[in-house]
Amino acid sequence: MGHYKPSEKPNNIMVLCFLFALHGAALFGLIFFRSHWHLLPLTCIYIFLIQNLGITFGYHRCLAHRSFELRYKWMERLFVTFGCCGFQMGPIWWCSIHRMHHKYSDTSQDPHDRTKGFWYSHIIWLIHLDPHYTLPPKSEFYFDNVKDIYADPYYRWLDKYFFVPWICSLAAFYSIGAWPWVFWGGIIPFLYHHHATWLVNSVTHRLGYRSFETKPLTDRSTNNWLIGLLAIGEGWHNNHHAFPSSAKHGFFRWWELDLTYIVIVLFRNLGLVNSLKIPQQVTNALGQSSTYASRQSVKIIVRRAK
Ligand SMILES: [Zn+2]
Ligand SMILES: [Zn+2]
Repeated sequence: MGHYKPSEKPNNIMVLCFLFALHGAALFGLIFFRSHWHLLPLTCIYIFLIQNLGITFGYHRCLAHRSFELRYKWMERLFVTFGCCGFQMGPIWWCSIHRMHHKYSDTSQDPHDRTKGFWYSHIIWLIHLDPHYTLPPKSEFYFDNVKDIYADPYYRWLDKYFFVPWICSLAAFYSIGAWPWVFWGGIIPFLYHHHATWLVNSVTHRLGYRSFETKPLTDRSTNNWLIGLLAIGEGWHNNHHAFPSSAKHGFFRWWELDLTYIVIVLFRNLGLVNSLKIPQQVTNALGQSSTYASRQSVKIIVRRAK
């Protein structure tokens, strides 16, 4: 696979304009639709559907890391489609960028390289993409590290038309409750889960504690309780970098609450998960017997912090 080379000059200005427009729409909405705050439960439900079931459960742990396998393929596709409702680009694009991040963490080949500063790793990286990652994809480089996902024709279609589920969801909100529903159900959750995801890239490679030495040695991932809460279990990021294929991210400390893993366990208890991976060291420490240890995870660990 070739190396990821971020563009030195901003090359994705449309994205920047779009994000500015949505932040502006949020401000506008807070002024004109604040009296509809009773729609807040709708916001919470949509955040759960998109951020949790769509992005963390679907895009990240199920697809990008294959840390568990759902019993039914249609169910996996459904949750990945929820992820598209979050407008964080398509599943092939997202997973390719993310796998690149794990492979080259905190180096110039990391798409959201923390060494270029907080705001670069939070949002500015989106307008300095390697040209292979701007639309339309120009070469095989784009899907070289996600061939397993690219093999699915539905994901290829979804990657190309990733905006369709998002537009459909906004249209549904509008037809039910007009602009207040679009604002509380579409815009606020959109901003929430985008920033929650970006905070994982920016804060949890900068602030927090480290339980593991990680490879590559440039990797400075951290565990951060605030991001753990906001990003629904994704803030135990040093644990995750140490064991990328583990379905469980919160490990040894009582406060490492991992809501996404709780949802995975719920699905497992309902008989909807065929298999899930938890590193041998973690199951040993937790006194659990069943495990699907990942060779990659076991190899990567060097030591636990005191
Ligand atoms: Zn990371
Ligand atoms: Zn990951």
